[in-house]
Amino acid sequence: MAAVSAAFVMLICVQSLDVSAVGKPHSVTENGVGPGYHRPRLMPRNNQALIQKKLQSIVDNEGLPQALEELQSYGYSSGYLKPKAHTGNPVTSFKIEGYDLDFRYQINLLRSNYVPKYGRAGNCPICWDVVESFHKPGLRAYGLELNGRKWFLQNPPFPYTYGHVVMIEKTHGRRMAVREGTLKDGLAYLDLDPEATFCSNSSYYWSSASIPEHQHYQIIHERISGGGKLPVVMAKPKQGYCEESDGVKRSILNYPLPVIRLQSQDKKQLAKYAWGMIQRWEAILPGRNSVNLYMRKEGENYKVWILYRSTNFRNPKRLKNLKSENLGYLEVGGEFILPVTKDPEMKERRDKNPAPLFERFFKSVNPLLGIENEILQKLLTQPLPTEEERKILREKNQLLKRVKPGSELPFSQVKQRSRRSQRNKKLGA
Ligand SMILES: [Zn+2]
Repeated sequence: MAAVSAAFVMLICVQSLDVSAVGKPHSVTENGVGPGYHRPRLMPRNNQALIQKKLQSIVDNEGLPQALEELQSYGYSSGYLKPKAHTGNPVTSFKIEGYDLDFRYQINLLRSNYVPKYGRAGNCPICWDVVESFHKPGLRAYGLELNGRKWFLQNPPFPYTYGHVVMIEKTHGRRMAVREGTLKDGLAYLDLDPEATFCSNSSYYWSSASIPEHQHYQIIHERISGGGKLPVVMAKPKQGYCEESDGVKRSILNYPLPVIRLQSQDKKQLAKYAWGMIQRWEAILPGRNSVNLYMRKEGENYKVWILYRSTNFRNPKRLKNLKSENLGYLEVGGEFILPVTKDPEMKERRDKNPAPLFERFFKSVNPLLGIENEILQKLLTQPLPTEEERKILREKNQLLKRVKPGSELPFSQVKQRSRRSQRNKKLGA
């Protein structure tokens, strides 16, 4: 009983900390800013402690989006962000037949020489000690507390657009994974930054987790980037594929990859249903099936997009001259970040007629090609996992503790087979 009371008191403390992290001006003028307040200027020589203090003042008086805008400007003045980081990357839009969406590809000039750091022992590129370090003297961050855990927000060295921010857990310890907490973190973040799109990579390296050893999320901040929502969040529901229970609307979307969108005004129910649908998918092929997540707040509604992935479905080998890295949350979301290709024939095909090439990428990573409606309909109508599925996932989690992040489960340890017909059976088709 005493332990329960202590836990309850801790919970209250955590919630009150949450509120202090959000901050609200005590008195507000017509401009939405407290009287006598002047936005502090972030100077290039300011240390991390001072930057945090100044950013906190901006958050308290104006809000988180404004603080993030200042942090990005600081990145340029301190030399951490290169002047070309956001400019000079040509972006091309294209259509794919059957979808009324503007898909895009961006040639990221700075990222062309980027080599993923993963695999170098003891060299985590996103740990807290990298901030203000010898290697990144101009990198600063904004620390905040969310759902009782400490996080920091920083600009990535190769942002894909203005307002691209990474939210990183302050302690290195939890591997990158989509958890129930991911949904709770995303939905809580949107209360602080309602114009943002909160995105999560999947749980495994081969289906988009770029730094699998450290939990982090991606935030696209449209207030700073000036719009440009990801095509996946613009996709429309398919006729006749909608369900609703406990105030949570669920729809299958018309999109080249399997996507279900959930929406509700109730964050708790929304997280419960979204997590249930993720668990059902993961239980089919534990250690290989995962998802990419996108979350937004639109008016009073919270929305979650679940995009189904599996590490068994990877980039087409023939197109590796166009993109050799795994498709991440941006690419499957409809915006491809590409390096400068050294293959002139590929460049010509890409520029003259991009749709067939990118359709091949989508088909290649689609784990439900040809059976999407059938399987997604099962997830839609029976969103919560059975006891058997929960048991499978508990075993998987034990197994994952013994596996090095990024290496994923070896095939021999995975009981289920990956054939699409097997999936049908699992879902009771
Ligand atoms: Zn780390």
